[in-house]
Amino acid sequence: MARVYLIPARADDPEEEIARKIRHLWERASLGECFLPNDLTAVKLHVGEPGKTTFVSPGVVTPLVRLLKERGARPFLTDSAVLYRSPRDTGAGHTAVAHEHGFTLERVGAPFLPADGLTGADEVEMETCGKHFDTASIAAAVARASSLLVLTHATGHLATGFGGALKNIGMGCSSKKGKLRQHFGRQPDIDGVICTGCEACAADCPEEAIGVDRVAVIDSAKCIGCGACVAACLEGAVRFDWEVGGAELQERVVEYAGPIVAGRRGRLACVTVAMNITKDCDCLGSPQHPVCDDIGILASRDPVAIDQVFLDLVRERTGTSLESLTYPDHDGSVQTAYAEELGLGERGASLILIE
Ligand code: SF4
Ligand code: SF4
Repeated sequence: MARVYLIPARADDPEEEIARKIRHLWERASLGECFLPNDLTAVKLHVGEPGKTTFVSPGVVTPLVRLLKERGARPFLTDSAVLYRSPRDTGAGHTAVAHEHGFTLERVGAPFLPADGLTGADEVEMETCGKHFDTASIAAAVARASSLLVLTHATGHLATGFGGALKNIGMGCSSKKGKLRQHFGRQPDIDGVICTGCEACAADCPEEAIGVDRVAVIDSAKCIGCGACVAACLEGAVRFDWEVGGAELQERVVEYAGPIVAGRRGRLACVTVAMNITKDCDCLGSPQHPVCDDIGILASRDPVAIDQVFLDLVRERTGTSLESLTYPDHDGSVQTAYAEELGLGERGASLILIE
């Protein structure tokens, strides 16, 4: 049976106290065994959208980086470019936000490296399995890393009801094309007011589906919804309906998590911060209030178990589900059930409380 470890903590704990608890948690959960000397270890985190204040702080990341270095690993912080208009929609902007939010080499001890490069197009196609995909477009730095530390801020989520470790891996480690494919691979549209006619999208379109006559126009008969034009356009003129959600989106996210988890058995560890549990994820660029009291910090080698335990703990603490506190139309447990079905982990876990 999978094991999930919990050390109680509060967001307002002093930084030294958080560091002490993380070391204790790391040792009890034997997370160090996942990392070997000279590993290029990707620490997948979310540096927070500008305006957001409740993302996982550098004070949590710093002790984790220190512990990885004590194993002889060479950690780097990483995240992938977002699809929506944001400074985080390019590698350069994402790095700037990371630094503004304190994720600097000096502060944390590891550099921030955009996982899918400058424009969100550096990717590796990896085989996956399930109902929706045969391959997944994974951000190159994650695909090529020796080992992976999945550092997650557990929250509600607009499109899935719950954002935990599986979503951090599946959606968070995919390239822009991968994100678009998960959001149902719909054909994008061009905003003719914003488009400058630069032709960058046409040059990258594998189907020659874009013609440019002052502004770009997509031939819907040719477009396969691959998303390459989304990454190519630096003006934000390529638009798409990405807020499609529900059970099928959760399944797609899980199928993207599949090759990353399956390819790193014993070389992947999860740390989930269950503090400042907000209605929306850290992509929402405004301050938010928690919907539940702080629980603490969880650790496991099983992303399915850690997500399920988090959902169970919220229910235990509040008497209701996370989704009923955030987005009642969603059932966030679809992702843990489907991930278990695909063999990515177990929902039934023993919870070990560390005092
Ligand atoms: S989504 Fe892909 S196929 Fe469609 S226009 Fe964009 S680049 Fe071309
Ligand atoms: S890359 Fe963007 S701005 Fe350039 S032609 Fe395509 S849609 Fe227009």
